Amino acid sequence: METYDALLAAIAPTNGQARTILDPATRQPVGEAPVHTVEDLERAVTAAAAAQPAWAALGHDARSAALLKAADAVERSAEELAHLLSREQGKPLNGPNARFEVGACAAWLRATATTELKPETVVDDGDTHAELHYKPIGVVGAIGPWNWPMMITIWQIAPALRMGNTAVVKPSEYTPLSVLALIKVLNEELPDGVLHVIAGDREVGARLAEHPAIGKVMFTGSTAAGKAIIKSSANTVKRLTLELGGNDAGIVLPDADPKAIAQDLFWGAFINTGQTCAALKRLYVHADIYDAVCEELTSVAKAMPMGVGLDEKNVLGPLQNKAQYDIVAQLVDAARDSGARILLGGNPDPDQPGYFYPTTLIADIDNDNPLVAEEQFGPALPIIRYSTIEEAIGYANALDVGLGASVWSPNLAAAREVASRIEAGTVWINKHGAVDPRVPFGGAKQSGYGLEFGVEGLKALGVPQIING
Ligand code: NAD
Repeated sequence: METYDALLAAIAPTNGQARTILDPATRQPVGEAPVHTVEDLERAVTAAAAAQPAWAALGHDARSAALLKAADAVERSAEELAHLLSREQGKPLNGPNARFEVGACAAWLRATATTELKPETVVDDGDTHAELHYKPIGVVGAIGPWNWPMMITIWQIAPALRMGNTAVVKPSEYTPLSVLALIKVLNEELPDGVLHVIAGDREVGARLAEHPAIGKVMFTGSTAAGKAIIKSSANTVKRLTLELGGNDAGIVLPDADPKAIAQDLFWGAFINTGQTCAALKRLYVHADIYDAVCEELTSVAKAMPMGVGLDEKNVLGPLQNKAQYDIVAQLVDAARDSGARILLGGNPDPDQPGYFYPTTLIADIDNDNPLVAEEQFGPALPIIRYSTIEEAIGYANALDVGLGASVWSPNLAAAREVASRIEAGTVWINKHGAVDPRVPFGGAKQSGYGLEFGVEGLKALGVPQIING
């Protein structure tokens, strides 16, 4: 097992430019990250292309065995990885946060290694025998965000490697250390040349998206960057999986029990302190139980400790960066100025060193308020009153994004009927944001396209080929 200091030393830059990464909770230095360039990217792509044929030739069983060993390596270094993730990203060790994220990395590696994808006979009528196979694409580029940096990297690279591709990862400029460390640990078990990481900026990301030797880009991040990647990938007709922003609605039906659902509503909205793509970001509650839901949610939220991630008692942390802190603060201030009622929070301490924004619940807010209509990506949840289910579905479907959504009711048939009318890639019932490596996940509308996880996720990292005859 690596010690924490040895892990940081192993990923520190030895030459070239370096950047000091600060802890968002304390603004103290966490470590030094390399600043890789477009030339570094070229070298990585060349090495990944050279290693790809031998990796593909190993076959599914050997590649699966390598991924299972890589999962063991993540587990051996789990505490050090969680510690670094907590310091760099800000999320606490405890709760559904840093240890949970590292655990999910190992779980997703194992699930991806053991999911079967067999050739499919599509026609066999005596005259025609047509089979559908999936071949490796070649080199896959993976561009990720700062909110779940390790887990999203695994979501992108595990199916890529499993399908016989090699990979080049470009982490977010905000969280390079977490991804550098994760990949260092994975490379203890993977063959040389198969997996590379380039800690560069947007320019490096843009070059990766247009690079002629890269056959597919897995991208998770904002809708704006996703649109830029579509454009820069066009010349090479690159395959893309795009997991973009969301603004997920939750609809609480009038027969729901406010006390029974309050805890799950809370974590649906506030997991990772609200910095989650498929978090509940707009809560629609029927007028009959509106006050009771507001009350129960406030009492759950009040009891959740926020603070420095390494303190075991905390389950909520800071915003990861100043830009995100400012977005949340401006949206809440504007909501308050519009006459909305702040049930909890909304009053950050101006003298704190970190980017802590208190857990905030806002009631009596109009549906067209910017805090509702824009993705806040932080710990501030607007609660909107509705009177008819048609009105609630209309609100939920009014935006141009559709990643996730949820419906809350003990009447499953009624909840499923409402779910079927919502324009989102996933609609959960009586939970929100529960991802599962066996269940495909992807966005509707401008939340992106392409599916991750399960058999569908493997198919997305292969080139379909029909053998007919
Ligand atoms: P971002 O789009 O600013 O950055 C994401 C990554 O893209 C970074 O690595 C960045 O360097 C790179 N990038 C930016 N512009 C690029 C370009 N033109 N070409 C190539 N690469 C480029 O997003 P962020 O601020 O890191 O993440 C927050 C956003 O991500 C939110 O909108 C959130 O909803 C979304 N997100 C979505 C999912 C999902 O699964 N749908 C998951 C997590 C986050």
